[in-house]
Amino acid sequence: MSIQSNLNEIKAELPAQVTLVAVSKTKTVSDLMEAYNAGQRIFGENKIQEMAGKYEEMPKDIQWHMIGHVQTNKVKYMAPFVSLVHGVDSLKLLAEINKQAKKNNRVIDCLLQMHIAEEETKFGMDESELNELLASDEFRAMENIKVIGLMGMATFTEDENQIRKEFTHLKSIFDNLGGLSTDNCQLTTLSMGMSGDYNIAIECGSTMVRIGSSIFGHR
Ligand SMILES: *Cc1c(COP(=O)(O)O)cnc(C)c1O
Repeated sequence: MSIQSNLNEIKAELPAQVTLVAVSKTKTVSDLMEAYNAGQRIFGENKIQEMAGKYEEMPKDIQWHMIGHVQTNKVKYMAPFVSLVHGVDSLKLLAEINKQAKKNNRVIDCLLQMHIAEEETKFGMDESELNELLASDEFRAMENIKVIGLMGMATFTEDENQIRKEFTHLKSIFDNLGGLSTDNCQLTTLSMGMSGDYNIAIECGSTMVRIGSSIFGHR
């Protein structure tokens, strides 16, 4: 199967309100160009330097999403161009993104990453940390970021009930915020679902799926 036919097959089955992020980490520019030429404009990467290199080489109408864990000292390399940062899980990181966005005269859209999986290794906040962040004066004063939603990853398991339970939990956290709308916060986006679990995620209310191997093949 070619990248183009994989992409077309997935796009054909996604509901209209669900945005597809083509996760292109570790893949070559020529692989990405195949997806680009098939119409894909949103790409997700998990390493800032790799994303910056691809940004330099590729057409400028691409929206680059940072889906991986972000180290504060590397934010400056993506601040000029990144379109959405999925993995924001602390006020400290948000403050750095705000600072670097300001230097670039931009407002950078962010998703707050929630910990919903059983594994200890996955990053993210719990609901009380989320509420604390959103209520803090420091957050409210940030003018160069905009929080547009939440992101989460389910446990890596065959157990569909477990996955469904975790996505449903994330959706309920999202719903509990009641579409919060302030100057720097407009909660419209729920990023959940990858190659193995995006159908379940969509049933549970996902509005953005991050799909890599089902488009580009195994890494
Ligand atoms: C790699 C990655 C994906 C895509 O995973 P696939 O299983 O290849 O679809 C999605 N989200 C995050 C955060 C990732 O790191």
